[in-house]
Amino acid sequence: MSRVAYVNGVYVPHGEATVHIEDRGFQFADGVYEVWAIFGGRLADYDGHIERLGRSLDELRIDHPMSSGALTNVLREVVRRNRVREGLLYIQITRGTAPRDHPFPNPPVPPTLVVTCKSIDRKAAEAKARNGAAVITVPETRWARCDIKTVGLLPNALAKQAARERGAMEAWFVDELGFVTEGSSTNAWIVDADGTLRTRDTNANILRGVTRRALIDIARDAGMKVEERPFTMEEAKAAKEAFFTAASAFVMPAVSIDGAKIGNGKPGPVALKLRELYLAEARERAV
Ligand code: PLP
Repeated sequence: MSRVAYVNGVYVPHGEATVHIEDRGFQFADGVYEVWAIFGGRLADYDGHIERLGRSLDELRIDHPMSSGALTNVLREVVRRNRVREGLLYIQITRGTAPRDHPFPNPPVPPTLVVTCKSIDRKAAEAKARNGAAVITVPETRWARCDIKTVGLLPNALAKQAARERGAMEAWFVDELGFVTEGSSTNAWIVDADGTLRTRDTNANILRGVTRRALIDIARDAGMKVEERPFTMEEAKAAKEAFFTAASAFVMPAVSIDGAKIGNGKPGPVALKLRELYLAEARERAV
């Protein structure tokens, strides 16, 4: 029997079920999911999973795609159409499809709703349980690998949205010791009191920005002093200048942080000069 999936209002053959490439689940991991066990064609722990689903959606401010009554009907219909008696039901809801950009789509778009289910061989599962399971340990790294340019960008998207809601272009993450790590999609820099450029070292848990790397060389070639050393928020606020870098922003002067003016509140000469140097060099070297 062929499997059936539910995608945005339509029951489709599982093998043909697709979402758009710019779905925010695919681009940013900007979505939530639930899994129910199915016993005798019925959903186990129904309320617990539906409540957690609602909570997850509310925490991320993703619209509920339909009333819980309507959703229950869809879930049951997926089980029925797949004739699953013993199995698992999977639901995923994302913030929807929109041109790729970290902040929430504005105006909002309808959430994406996908439901699938599959049969499970319960006898085999019971046999496995009788043998028991081996366990290993791994370091707790969820998510401490910001050096990987992964599409798991939900915290970055939430940070960028927070920036938008406070009238800012970028949000800088600050670690538990008060040091700036990086921006939600950029690397962070300051120009300190004696004119030294500072940007956090890449041994730290940040993305190794390609623009950052190129700019270090450009700045040094131009005779500027660059230190790869973390700075605190206090140092950033007291800095002569601040700016951030990325392939999508080049060198962007920061004129305020959390509402406090940096320098005179205008783009500084060092950042503007670096932007000019970066653009000239990048354009010339582009292959
Ligand atoms: N940091 C984060 C978290 C980013 O997502 C990005 C770019 O997407 C950067 C830094 C800057 O990297 P690059 O200069 O390679 O664009």
